[in-house]
Amino acid sequence: MSFTDSCSSCLARGIAPADTRTRGDRRVDGYRCPHCGHTWAVTRDLTAYSDIHARRAHHHARKAA
Ligand SMILES: [Zn+2]
Repeated sequence: MSFTDSCSSCLARGIAPADTRTRGDRRVDGYRCPHCGHTWAVTRDLTAYSDIHARRAHHHARKAA
C-alpha cells in the first residue's frame, strides 16, 4: 500500500514514494519529484492500524449475568 503525494515545489500531483521505511509505529515515505527533482519525506502514524488489531484482540463477548 503506497500513498501518492503532491510536489510542493512545482505542484505536480500523484507522485509515488521512491523510498518507504517503517520505524516502530511510524512509516516514512520519501518522495522525489520527477519533474523538478524536489525531494521530501512524509511521516505517517501507523497507530491507527495497530489500534484495529488491538480492538480485535481484546474483543470478547459479554454474557448477561
Ligand atoms: Zn516538482
